[in-house]
Amino acid sequence: MTAMRDLDGSVLALSGGIGGAKLALGLSHLVVPEKLIIVANTADDFEHLDLSVSPDIDTLVYTLAGLSNDELGWGRRGETWNFMTALEAIGGPRWFRLGDGDLAMHVERSHRLRAGETLSDITADIARRLGIGLTLLPMTDDRVRTRLETDEGWLDFQDYFVRRACAPMVRSVVFAGSETATPQPMLMRALAHPRLRAVVICPSNPFISIEPILSLPNVRAAIAACPAPVILVSPIIGGKSVKGPTAKMMRELGQTPSAVAASRCYEGLLDAVIVDHKDAGTTAAEHGAAVFPAHTLMRTLEDRRVVAAKVLDVADSLAGKVA
Ligand code: GDP
Repeated sequence: MTAMRDLDGSVLALSGGIGGAKLALGLSHLVVPEKLIIVANTADDFEHLDLSVSPDIDTLVYTLAGLSNDELGWGRRGETWNFMTALEAIGGPRWFRLGDGDLAMHVERSHRLRAGETLSDITADIARRLGIGLTLLPMTDDRVRTRLETDEGWLDFQDYFVRRACAPMVRSVVFAGSETATPQPMLMRALAHPRLRAVVICPSNPFISIEPILSLPNVRAAIAACPAPVILVSPIIGGKSVKGPTAKMMRELGQTPSAVAASRCYEGLLDAVIVDHKDAGTTAAEHGAAVFPAHTLMRTLEDRRVVAAKVLDVADSLAGKVA
């Protein structure tokens, strides 16, 4: 069972994969594990070779456990590929790569899900076994799946993201199953807590990493009503994504890619946005939130810590001032 925690003074962060995990790691160096809750997007999850794959949870687990492959930008450090080589030799699919160590994660998760455990309990147990002390939660234990309407028709998320390498033009995005999914109960408890320290929206893709979390019943309203400061770290720096299709998707959805456009994805929710120094000229009126410039490109561990420290400073400076 996911442990009951005293949520007083806790930091709650909403995260996708790579961008989110960078800030989550920084926060994990500054906030005691008992007071840090990371909520992962699970709308990227899919079934491959009859295995349940949860890419954003796994990126967070590997990153927070110090096991991530920093050269590849995904998967595990020191990974070997015997399984893929053997699979390809007998005609198996090669478009989605599963390393040997990573495979263990998917096999174990799939088998435990089939035995009736929840994704929340499995994730908590695996995180604990890998030495992660903070609370890592899937956004829901129910099945939610991102589907994209593109110039090539409707695509499942991984078909768009991995098989087609984000090349198709996106027209709209839906989260199948989200209307009837139950948000993870600790997420809702934290948002309703009168003394939460901060809600952090990590620098993740707004359309496919954070919006699935916000689309769950009552989550957006709970964030809007949350007494804690809600702070975004912009995933767009100087009009560009650091990685991935965020800026490309903004253009395809009719927006000019910018830090302001990122904030506008969270209209009515934000108290503050941390933008890069490159975007320091943008105003609170444009963002709909107080603007705090910082160095937000997180290349090193120290960068991750500095951005996390800025988030906490901003949160504490706003404490008691937000509705
Ligand atoms: P995914 O689920 O693996 O695609 O990862 P996320 O959705 O969590 O992160 C993708 C977003 O993170 C992109 O919009 C990137 O621009 C952003 N991002 C990645 N690294 C950084 C960084 O160092 N600083 C900032 N500000 N944004 C970043």
